[in-house]
Amino acid sequence: VCYQEKPCYDIVYSKDFAELGEEIKKIGFENRKICLITDSNVDGLYSDEVCDILNKVAKAVIKCVIPAGEKNKNLDEINKIYEQLILNRFDRHDLIVALGGGVVGDMSGFTAATYLRGIAFIQIPTTLLAQSDSSIGGKTGVDYKGYKNMVGAFYMPRLVYMNISTLKTLDGRQFASGFAEVMKHGIIKDSEFYTWLIDNMYEIDERDVDTLLEMVYRSCLVKKAVVEKDPTEKGERALLNFGHTLGHAIEKYKNFELMHGECISLGFVAAAFISWKKGLLSMEEYYEVRDMLVPFNLPISLDSIDAEEVIRLTKSDKKADADKIKFILIKKIGRAVIDTTVTDDEMRAALEEIDWSK
Ligand code: NAD
Ligand code: ZN
Repeated sequence: VCYQEKPCYDIVYSKDFAELGEEIKKIGFENRKICLITDSNVDGLYSDEVCDILNKVAKAVIKCVIPAGEKNKNLDEINKIYEQLILNRFDRHDLIVALGGGVVGDMSGFTAATYLRGIAFIQIPTTLLAQSDSSIGGKTGVDYKGYKNMVGAFYMPRLVYMNISTLKTLDGRQFASGFAEVMKHGIIKDSEFYTWLIDNMYEIDERDVDTLLEMVYRSCLVKKAVVEKDPTEKGERALLNFGHTLGHAIEKYKNFELMHGECISLGFVAAAFISWKKGLLSMEEYYEVRDMLVPFNLPISLDSIDAEEVIRLTKSDKKADADKIKFILIKKIGRAVIDTTVTDDEMRAALEEIDWSK
C-alpha cells in the first residue's frame, strides 16, 4: 500500500503465522525489542504461537494485555503501555506488534504514533472487521470521555499480516458484524465483488478459509483504493461512511447494545431507501440491497425506533460538517455518491421503513 507522504508497506494474506518471522526480518526488525499488544481474549488464543515466532527474531519480547472490550479503549490503558515501554527501555528502533481486533489495532497504532514521537508498528488483525477494514488506512486512536475515537492520529503500520484462519474462532455475531463492512465495500465500489459475495454465501457462512482469504483480499482492495486516493479524509474517503450516518445514530440511540455492523446494516437499508426515493436507485436494486443482508445474519429492521431522536443524533456525529450532513447514497450497486441534500423528512421516511412496528 502506498500513501503520498508515507512509506509503502506490505499486506500479507496468509492461512497461518508461518511467514510472520520472515516478514518482520524483511522490514528490518531482526534483533530489536518487540512489544506485543493484545487483549485478554486473543491472548489465550494466539499469543503463545505469535510470541514463539517473535522470540526467534527479536532481541527481547514483552507483552501487554489490555482487558478485552471497547470500554478499555482509553488513555488509562495507553498509559500502562507507555510505562512498560519506558521501563523496558524501548527506543525508536524497536517495534510494536498489534495482535487482535480493531480495538487493539487502534490502540497499538496510537501508542506507536506517540511514543518517542513515533516508533514502528505492525498489525496482525484477528477479527473480520479488523482484517477487512480497520487495519488498512492508518487511522489510530482511543475513545475519550464517552466520545468515540476522539483522540488519535493518522499513522501507518510497517506491515499488516493477516492470518485468515484466526477468523474461525470468532463468534457468529462478531463475524456477521465485520461482514457488514465487507458488504459495504462491494456496494459502494465493486459490483463484481458484491455478486461474488452473494454467489459464495454458503462458503462464507461455513468460514471456508480459501473463500475468506479471497473475500478479505478483495475487501481490502476496495478500502486501499479509496484511502490511497484520500489518506486524510478530504473527499473520496467519505464514501466509506455509507450506512454510517444513520448507523452511528442508531448505535448511540441503542446505547451501543447492538454491534457496529448490525447498526450500519440498518444504515445501508435506510441509505438505499433514500437513494431509491430520490430516484438514484431502482426499486429492484433497493430490495436487492435490503434482502441480501438477511442471509448474512444482518438485521434490516428494528422493533421500534424513535425517529426524531435518531435524526437528532445524526447531527451530533462528529463527521457532520456544521449543519450539512454528508450522506452517502448509491446510484447503483457498486457506485456510491456524496449527497448533501438529504432532508429530515427523507430520513424520517427511511427510519419508518426499517421500523418493524410501522
Ligand atoms: P474488538 O477489537 O473489540 O474485537 C471484538 C471481540 O472479539 C473482542 O472481544 C476480542 O477479544 C475478540 N476477538 C478478537 N479476535 C478474535 C478471534 N480471532 N477469535 C475470537 N475472538 C476474537 O472489536 P472489532 O470489531 O475488531 O473492532 C472494533 C473497533 O475498531 C472499534 O473500536 C472501532 O472504533 C475500530 N475501528 C477502527 C477503524 C479504523 O479505520 N482504524 C475502522 C473501523 C473500526
Ligand atoms: Zn464502520
